[in-house]
Amino acid sequence: MKFKQRVVLCALTLVLALGMGLTAIAAPQNTLEKVKSTGKLVAGVKFDAPPFGFVDESGKVVGFDIDVAQYIADYLGVELELKQVTSKTRIPMLTEGTVDMVVATMTHQKARDENIDFSITYFFTGQRLLVKKGSGIKSVEDLAGKTVSTVQGSTSEHNIAKAQPKAKILTFQEYPQAFLALQQGRAQAMTTDASILAGFVKEGYEIVGPFIAPEPYGIGVRENDSDFRDAINFALMEMWETGVYKKVYNKWFGPNSDYPIPLGGEIEVWP
Ligand code: GLU
Repeated sequence: MKFKQRVVLCALTLVLALGMGLTAIAAPQNTLEKVKSTGKLVAGVKFDAPPFGFVDESGKVVGFDIDVAQYIADYLGVELELKQVTSKTRIPMLTEGTVDMVVATMTHQKARDENIDFSITYFFTGQRLLVKKGSGIKSVEDLAGKTVSTVQGSTSEHNIAKAQPKAKILTFQEYPQAFLALQQGRAQAMTTDASILAGFVKEGYEIVGPFIAPEPYGIGVRENDSDFRDAINFALMEMWETGVYKKVYNKWFGPNSDYPIPLGGEIEVWP
């Protein structure tokens, strides 16, 4: 082979290799295929957010999000495996591939959508305050110069800083630690979604104030994984249409539950 021919061949090989490399990088994820071939769906769920995901007296992880994740696994005909995530770890654990989806009280936000994708909204709530009864705190206006506890990586942390720049914000990894700070008087209020605060209210405490921000929950999936996202959306729609969603909702939030909260919205159902 002449020198010129060799150069052309080398260049062609390089272009081909680069092309293949780029295709590999840009290739869409197919978590649906992976889940079906392994027969297992790995869900990232909270262990710290009653009644969405928490450890019950028998040591079992239970909650509304767990029931939603189980419905999706059943819809796909696969086993469900649960892995603990926190507000801070859930997006990295998804993008690194440690979990297939995140069903963990996660608000879908434009900012978060830069790194991951979301299902349709499956739960509707908003951020409020939990305080000791008789504290005199009725809304964010009363928090100037006071300390508020919440968790790292949550929308709550950012929303409260914006809503009351004069409050000191004390952040933790998990919600029970934020509640402990309130109990011990290290914080005068705890803030996050009303539906999570409901899981901590007990004698002597109350949830106060209007919504500081709306918090619609979506299930987190990796970017460019649309077959999987479709399957999750269709499972959620089926859950709504068959009435299973309302049964699960009532189990955790109905009038006879430990955390009664009226239904905040309906799951969108495509015709
Ligand atoms: N829903 C809010 C969020 O996604 C607060 C609850 C949480 O920390 O998960 O950040």
